[in-house]
Amino acid sequence: MIQKLFILATVALTAVHAHPGSHAIANAAAAPQTIKLKEIYPPAFAIPTAKPEWLELIKDVNITKAPVYKNINGAGPQPEVAGQDPYCDWTFTGCFGKEDLYECPKGQWALTYDDGPSEFSPKLYDYLDQVNVKATFFMVGGQVVQFPDYALRAFKSGHELAMHTWSHNYMTTLTNEQIVAELKWNELVIKEVTGVAPRYFRPPYGDIDNRVRDVAAALGFAPIIWNHDTNDWAYASDPKAFKESWIDGNVTKWANAAKTATVGGISLEHDLYTQTVDAAIRVLPILQKEYELVPAGKCNNVQVYKGKTTVPVANATSSAAVVKATPSAVASSATAPVAIAPTVEAPDAAAAADSAASSAAVAANVVGSGASFTSASAVGLGVTVIAAMALV
Ligand SMILES: [Zn+2]
Repeated sequence: MIQKLFILATVALTAVHAHPGSHAIANAAAAPQTIKLKEIYPPAFAIPTAKPEWLELIKDVNITKAPVYKNINGAGPQPEVAGQDPYCDWTFTGCFGKEDLYECPKGQWALTYDDGPSEFSPKLYDYLDQVNVKATFFMVGGQVVQFPDYALRAFKSGHELAMHTWSHNYMTTLTNEQIVAELKWNELVIKEVTGVAPRYFRPPYGDIDNRVRDVAAALGFAPIIWNHDTNDWAYASDPKAFKESWIDGNVTKWANAAKTATVGGISLEHDLYTQTVDAAIRVLPILQKEYELVPAGKCNNVQVYKGKTTVPVANATSSAAVVKATPSAVASSATAPVAIAPTVEAPDAAAAADSAASSAAVAANVVGSGASFTSASAVGLGVTVIAAMALV
């Protein structure tokens, strides 16, 4: 079994390396974009440089002095001392900051889609329009430059638009100045296209600590993570190792838990690949049977755009809401040390948010169950599995 687990872990790491970042997608089929951008934007997927006036925003701000981590051999940031997490680093322990959003109230579910817009996004937009469901899209800056018409369409359909940085790098590996540039360029292109400036961002791979949170807060931004991961990206990256049915298995598991779950969900999916868009369309009805589907900002009663903005009528309710703090009870349980080390944008939902006890449970699940969704978790939790097994 150990051997099997390490094979799974290897598969997972392979998949991680192939995760969006290369963004090697063909876009010949994409419709021509009509919006002409005035701003001269940095190259897509390259770490940009901040405009000098943006750096003024962090000049006199007290920012947590966490290290700038290295992404060695694509393995993602690693803690300075194994097992210690002094800066509430989600990558290391699943730790959430007190302003982080990552769930909905019981009975509600937020569908969130990362890495777009892409040539495949309109198919998802069409479907969401058809079933009249609003979602939250975390858009990468370079993708918005490439597909501005699609970004505008998503906005006009009443979906929430949020940021996913400019270059899709691990944010804890960036300097404070680079973090400013990643977020502000991302904000600028979305604002130029839609007229609104997003307040929320999702760090690629969920990689965030208190230093990143402090820089973002100084710019007026706050993070949205997730508490359920379909692991759809792994399927798209390595379909031979990851069975498409595992996505459906994950979602079915969450739907079946609706009655007993204490909170609702924010799930992670991607609209960067044709396979993940197809999966997103296929699984939506499974969740819709058990949950009210609402965007992540709306279920948390927060204003998702800066200042007074004109938003589509379909989204007017959320724009009138006020910002709320994350309930302290939730925050305190979520910030409990977790002995797992998710280093990919895919720790299984429950595992990332659970308490320290969950690490053993995760390992036990992986070892003891052949259920498809558990296997999917194992793939997404490759590094976790290694860590868990090392403890056993
Ligand atoms: Zn991403």
